[in-house]
Amino acid sequence: MNIIVCVKQIPDPETPAASFKVDEAAKKVVPAQGIAPVVNPYDPQATEAALRLKDAAGEGKVTVISLGPDSARDAIKHALAMGADEGVLITDPALEGIDNFQTAVALAKAIEKLGGADLVLMGRASADWDMGVVPTGVGQLLGMPVVTVAKAIEANGGSLKVERVLDDGFQTVEVNTPAVVSISNEFGEPRYPQLRQIMLAAKKTVQVWSAADIGLGADETGAANRWLTLEALYVPKVESNVEIIEGDSPEEKARNLAQKLRAAKLI
Ligand SMILES: Cc1cc2nc3c(=O)[nH]c(=O)nc-3n(C[C@H](O)[C@H](O)[C@H](O)COP(=O)(O)OP(=O)(O)OC[C@H]3O[C@@H](n4cnc5c(N)ncnc54)[C@H](O)[C@@H]3O)c2cc1C
Repeated sequence: MNIIVCVKQIPDPETPAASFKVDEAAKKVVPAQGIAPVVNPYDPQATEAALRLKDAAGEGKVTVISLGPDSARDAIKHALAMGADEGVLITDPALEGIDNFQTAVALAKAIEKLGGADLVLMGRASADWDMGVVPTGVGQLLGMPVVTVAKAIEANGGSLKVERVLDDGFQTVEVNTPAVVSISNEFGEPRYPQLRQIMLAAKKTVQVWSAADIGLGADETGAANRWLTLEALYVPKVESNVEIIEGDSPEEKARNLAQKLRAAKLI
């Protein structure tokens, strides 16, 4: 089975709130100084899903794609150290500031350039913008069925049995390949690369493609050609007030508190 896994590098979600800044005028997130970006937490689970399918079949190839700055190579290296076979980094100044739809177009073009796949695996969402639209966008563009939020996958010849996570339970669906499946955290712990695998990963091929290499024209790239208009980007202001309830005795304080809560229609 020929599997492509898309992995994204994101700002570390563990970044302390105080270090997290947004440039409201430029509508951009200002990267926290001295905190290295990380792989989107759902994406190693997508890699794990690919590796388990390859292990079960006893054959196949797992190719990892990431679109981002040069540092996104680290996200690819992590997947290679887990056991993926090859990587492709799509990086180009023309791709800076693109939205999720442009991202889906770029990834779909890269997948086509790779000759397609039996299965495209992605994370259920990216933990920074948390939109979860790229998998469905890629499926639509490639004409492949999409199954989202998977907790288990089993290959059965030319079809897949996928168990999905719902709000109130699980759903099992069957889908023909080629297909796009997004993987949820319920899939289970991804394998942890050992030192030997990390060293072997250094020898694996990572191709670097520009926007032109995947056939993206100047009218499709850059912030000017976004499909979505970002109206505002800001950290919501949370205000809290503390009021000390006075009273001469605990009973009076309790009475005063009850009156306040009743006046505020909270009891
Ligand atoms: C109007 C607008 C402006 C934006 N401007 C910027 C900006 O200036 N700078 C910036 O950093 N971001 C910007 N973004 C966010 C950026 O476009 C998205 O983070 C990116 O397109 C991925 O979409 P998502 O986060 O919704 O992915 P999701 O759909 O939530 O991700 C699901 C899965 O898709 C795959 N995937 C998603 N993105 C990639 C990728 N790049 N490479 C490989 N696999 C991927 C992964 O498997 C991931 O788990 C902007 C978004 C919008 C809407």
